[in-house]
Amino acid sequence: MSDEEQLLQYQAYQLQAHDVATHSSRTMSYLRRLHIKAGKRIDVWDELTAHRAASDSGVTGPAIKRAFRSFVGNLQGNRCCYCRRWLQNIAHAKPVEHILCRKDYPQFSLHFYNLAVACFDCNLLKKDAKWGSVAVLSINYPVAANINDFYHPRFHRYPEHVSYERTERDDICNVTYTGLTPQGKHLCDQLLYITAARENFFSNNPSIAEAMVSLQQFQDRHAPGELPALEAFRKSLNESMHKQLDNSALDGLPLKGRRAAKSRTKV
Ligand SMILES: [Zn+2]
Repeated sequence: MSDEEQLLQYQAYQLQAHDVATHSSRTMSYLRRLHIKAGKRIDVWDELTAHRAASDSGVTGPAIKRAFRSFVGNLQGNRCCYCRRWLQNIAHAKPVEHILCRKDYPQFSLHFYNLAVACFDCNLLKKDAKWGSVAVLSINYPVAANINDFYHPRFHRYPEHVSYERTERDDICNVTYTGLTPQGKHLCDQLLYITAARENFFSNNPSIAEAMVSLQQFQDRHAPGELPALEAFRKSLNESMHKQLDNSALDGLPLKGRRAAKSRTKV
């Protein structure tokens, strides 16, 4: 993406930074103040989430995040920035993704181009992973043309880096991803193999998939953080499943998705 395209995109966002157009300029003032604070290597994301201005202003963290999800979600065609599955129409199922993770890069915790919208699975899988060689003490956000060692969903165009194929027949689904460039291959290695294996696993185990969906639906009826025990359980279950999927693939057990993805990618 060129500098000019980035500027145009940011200008468009400024006008849509809040659901209520008249609140957009006040929202941008608040975000600029927070952005200056982040520049001191302070992770401001939780502060944004908790922000509640005077009740008559309407400028709150949830409102700002909702507008951001809508704006960037539209740019992404309402698909996950990594696996390209459709994003469900509930906030909890489409978390805001920090491309350079908050843990290592707190100074970019609110940077417009460091944020994308992922699905729950990809966001959970990536977590605090540090991708690429961007120096952790960098003051300025890296230039798009210099990001060559990992896939950056806000700067790179997905079809140029990753090709994917999803076939469904009755209840069976098979997904494969192919990295086309070093950035795309890095994304496959770090994330998409396990995403494909997980999706294929669920399509072949409908009763487990149904139970997982029920848990998610129950959780979605509550605000984030309201059911900490259930959230911890789901997180632990996910991590355990990913380990199992990973080990099974290494043992040569039939994990069609991962093996297919890997063989195609290595062509
Ligand atoms: Zn995803």
